[in-house]
Amino acid sequence: MSQAEDITWLPKPTTRPNGEEESLPSAWSPAGFHVLSKPTGAICNLACSYCFFLDKELLYEGSRFRMSDDVLDRYIRQLIESHHTPQVAVAWQGGEPTLMGLGFYRRAIELQEQYRKPGMSFQNTMQTNGTLLTDEWCEFLKENEYLIGISIDGPAHLHDAYRVNKRGEGSFDKVMRGLRLLQKHDVEYNILTTVNRVNGDHPLDVYRFLRDEAGTDWMQFIPVVERVDEDGQPAHLRGTYASERSVQPEQFGQFLIAIYDEWVRNDVGRVFVQTFEAAARNWMGLGSSGMCVFNETCGLGVALEHTGDLYSCDHFVDDDFRLGNIADTDMGDLVASARQHRFGQDKRDGLPQYCLDCDVRFACHGECPKNRFLITPDGEPGLNYLCAGFKDFFHHIDRPMNIITAAMKSSRPASDVMQVLRQEDAAFASAVRNAGRNGPCPCGSGRKTKQCHGRPTPHADTNAPLPVGVGVPRPKVGKRAQHD
Ligand code: SF4
Ligand code: SF4
Repeated sequence: MSQAEDITWLPKPTTRPNGEEESLPSAWSPAGFHVLSKPTGAICNLACSYCFFLDKELLYEGSRFRMSDDVLDRYIRQLIESHHTPQVAVAWQGGEPTLMGLGFYRRAIELQEQYRKPGMSFQNTMQTNGTLLTDEWCEFLKENEYLIGISIDGPAHLHDAYRVNKRGEGSFDKVMRGLRLLQKHDVEYNILTTVNRVNGDHPLDVYRFLRDEAGTDWMQFIPVVERVDEDGQPAHLRGTYASERSVQPEQFGQFLIAIYDEWVRNDVGRVFVQTFEAAARNWMGLGSSGMCVFNETCGLGVALEHTGDLYSCDHFVDDDFRLGNIADTDMGDLVASARQHRFGQDKRDGLPQYCLDCDVRFACHGECPKNRFLITPDGEPGLNYLCAGFKDFFHHIDRPMNIITAAMKSSRPASDVMQVLRQEDAAFASAVRNAGRNGPCPCGSGRKTKQCHGRPTPHADTNAPLPVGVGVPRPKVGKRAQHD
C-alpha cells in the first residue's frame, strides 16, 4: 500500500490554468512531496499471496536488490535540498525494508544530520511485516522516533489466509511478536490491514481484533485489487479483471459500513480509522482528505527504487511511469516535471462522465486510477472497480458525517455524534416496537414491520446497531458548495 496515502501535510496541488500545458513547470513547484523508498526493491522474507510487488523482481532481473551507500547518500541529500518545508518525511517500504539491516538505517540518520537545513526536522517511517523486529531494532526505532506501520489482516485465521511465508505457513505469530516488541518499547505504530476476499466478510471480527486484542487506536484499511487478464494471469495496471483474492466491490462497501457503524457509535475520538478521517475532511470541505486516493488530484507521492529510479507512484512502478534516475536528474526536478504534474492531474481529468455526475464524487474522486478498469453503464472506460462499494459506503455515512461536520463547525467535539445516534437508535427501536407487526415499518421502506426491521433475528449480534437505512431508497447526498 502507498504511504503516500498517509500525507496530511501536503499542499493542495496548483491546478493547471485553462489547460495550458506549457505553463505547467512553473505552476507545479511543490514545497514538499512524499517519497516511498524501497531499499530492497521487491524482496521480502514473506510471500503474501496478493503482494503486487513480487512480479516487480522482473523489472530488475539480476539485481542484488540492495540500495547502495551512493544511492542512499544522493537520495537523502536531494530529498532535503528539494524540500522547503520544516518537516521532511523519510519513508521506507518494500518488499521488506528491515532486510537491509540496522546499519543501513543508522547511516540514513547520519545523512539526515549531515544535510539537515537549519530548523528542519524529520519524520522517519517504515512499513514492515514486523517478523524480523528485535529488541535492538525497537530501541533504534524508539530512539529515532520512527512511526512504524505494521501489516496485520485480522485475527490468526484471517491473517494467515494470505500472509504466509515462502513455505506457505502463516505469519500471524511472528507478526504479533513484532507488534508486542513495538509496544514493549513504546514505539509509535499504526496497523495496516489489507481487505481481501476472505477477511472482507468479517469486518467486525477484524475491527474488534485490532482495537481490543492488538490494542491499536490507529488503523487503515486498504482494499486488495489485483488486476489479472482474461486467463487469470497477473497483469498489473493492464488487466481488466480482478483476481479471486481481490475484495469484491460491494463486499468492500459493506466491510467499511459495518466498521463505520460500530466506530461512529462507540469509538469516535478514541480510535482513528484513516478512511473515516479522510471522509470527514471531505465532508467538511477541507481541500485535502489526507489520503491521495480520495483527493481530486495526486502526484506528490513518488516511489524510489533501490537503483535510484524514481516512479510516479508506489502503485505505478512500471517502465511507462519511470520519471528518471536521481543520479542523472535531481529528484526535485523529476517531481516538479510537467510529466509528473500531468500524472497527478489525470486523476481528475481522466474521470468518466459517470463519475463527474456522481453525487459522492466530492468524497470519492474516482479513488485511485490504478483501479479504474471497468466500463461505465453508458459504455465509457475508466470506472473504478470498487465504485459500487464506495457509492454504498459514502451514501451510508452521509447523515452521521453531517452531524460530525455540524459539531465541528460549532467548535464541539466530533464525538457528539455518538450521543445523537444513540438517542436516534433508541427512538427508532421504540417506534419499531410500537408499530405493530403488520403495520408499516417506521424506516419508511413501505414493507410491513414484521418483514422489515421488526423481523426476528435470532442469530443477530445484540450489540450491533440497528440497520437504519436498510431497505430505504438511497437518498441523494446533498451538494456541497466547497466542491462545486
Ligand atoms: S496513483 Fe495517485 S491516487 Fe493512486 S496511490 Fe498513487 S498517488 Fe495515490
Ligand atoms: S462512487 Fe463511483 S461514480 Fe462516484 S466518484 Fe466514486 S467511482 Fe465515480
